[in-house]
Amino acid sequence: MEIIKIKLSVSNAYLVKDKKSILIDTGSPKEADKILSAVKKAGVDVKDLSLILHTHGHVDHAGSTAELKRRLRIPSAIHKDDAFMLQTGTNGLVNAINFEAEIYKKILVKPFEASEPDIIIENEMLLSDFGVDGKIIFTSGHTKGSISILFGNNEMIIGDVMMGGFMGGNLFASRPTYHYFYNNLDEIKSSIKKIVNLKPSKVYVGHGGPLLLEDVNKRFSEIL
Ligand SMILES: [Zn+2]
Ligand SMILES: [Zn+2]
Repeated sequence: MEIIKIKLSVSNAYLVKDKKSILIDTGSPKEADKILSAVKKAGVDVKDLSLILHTHGHVDHAGSTAELKRRLRIPSAIHKDDAFMLQTGTNGLVNAINFEAEIYKKILVKPFEASEPDIIIENEMLLSDFGVDGKIIFTSGHTKGSISILFGNNEMIIGDVMMGGFMGGNLFASRPTYHYFYNNLDEIKSSIKKIVNLKPSKVYVGHGGPLLLEDVNKRFSEIL
């Protein structure tokens, strides 16, 4: 299996190649073309895509879902607690962690085109039905319905549980840090612990990254 990072305007989406391939997140609005050309460049036929899986429902992770579903006609999945974001094209409760984050919030947190999810995730399910050796792990806190995925190669995609680098991941991308936005900070801390306890060999994030476990351990030592 192979995890391919697709760097978009604000966030990262991911293509996971295994028996079949899945897309994790869809970037901001109007990024479907960029995502599909990255899929082609990776040598994956769009007919082999089996699922659009959302780490959470924010505009920079679900912004092109409606357009991609029109083009690909494949199912989308999201945790039950973030489903309303996809259904209404809204971002739910977004708290900013500091002053810089307040500015990003004003610029970035915008409505987007709604779409109806086909699969509402209620359990920490396997992805084998979609041809991928991976398991969904619940990691709430950034949003209530934030999920991570632990793959058979021991790598993880964790969405926005934490971030890599500064300036939206453009500087020092491999340095772990708290994300700008949170729904519940205590839940984020518990989720970071949960991820560290799984000992992933590499941690892919929604902004910047990838991160190494030893760096995550160092950065969050006070809460682990
Ligand atoms: Zn987010
Ligand atoms: Zn994000």
